[in-house]
Amino acid sequence: MDAFIEELKSIVGANGVLTGDDVANRPESWPPMGGCQARAIIRPADTKEVSAVLKACHEQGQAVVTHGGVTGLVGGARTAPDDIVVSLERMHATDPVDTVNRTITVEAGVPLQKVQELAEAEGLLFPVDFGARGSAQIGGAISTNAGGNSVIRYGMVREQLLGVEAVLADGTVISSMKDVIKRWAS
Ligand SMILES: Cc1cc2nc3c(=O)[nH]c(=O)nc-3n(C[C@H](O)[C@H](O)[C@H](O)COP(=O)(O)OP(=O)(O)OC[C@H]3O[C@@H](n4cnc5c(N)ncnc54)[C@H](O)[C@@H]3O)c2cc1C
Repeated sequence: MDAFIEELKSIVGANGVLTGDDVANRPESWPPMGGCQARAIIRPADTKEVSAVLKACHEQGQAVVTHGGVTGLVGGARTAPDDIVVSLERMHATDPVDTVNRTITVEAGVPLQKVQELAEAEGLLFPVDFGARGSAQIGGAISTNAGGNSVIRYGMVREQLLGVEAVLADGTVISSMKDVIKRWAS
């Protein structure tokens, strides 16, 4: 394994790095049209690790492609052999539903269906819904501003979104998180 991949492993741990067949056996598009090609798939466990990985890649001029559930239909998750994939699959923590403000805070790697189920358990509706609900992640749905079965009535994903914490390509963390509509991000 090359020195740069070892550096990334020191950030995310051995469990956070996939190489070789573990990369090739994964899809990079939907419907699958062959295995993923990449130097490695890096699987950070939290925002701090995402930031450190992207900072290291930025300093090396390393191209990065983010993977959510890889259900996107337009090839946005496709990779080249020299790319690094940053997969959000280990970032699947959820806060309890805030039943007063009717909001929920989840990490980017949480499947859409999980958010629907958490809302439903509190007698609420998370109305974004489409066929890939069990695999598509909230981060991917936000990135693609997905529509789906209820889009005419409830709007696209971004109309359900109060704020995001995001990591820029150079590793900078920015946040517009808030829990009610009528509040500017702090
Ligand atoms: C059966 C099926 C039905 C569908 N029906 C609809 C529909 O009715 N309406 C509709 O609008 N769409 C529909 N879609 C497409 C749907 O919008 C996408 O599949 C979904 O939003 C992508 O989520 P994902 O987690 O799989 O993202 P991926 O496919 O992994 O990624 C999609 C793009 O988002 C980027 N990305 C992913 N996660 C992040 C992140 N955390 N941060 C930054 N960038 C990220 C990737 O780099 C890529 O460019 C359907 C798809 C399928 C397979």
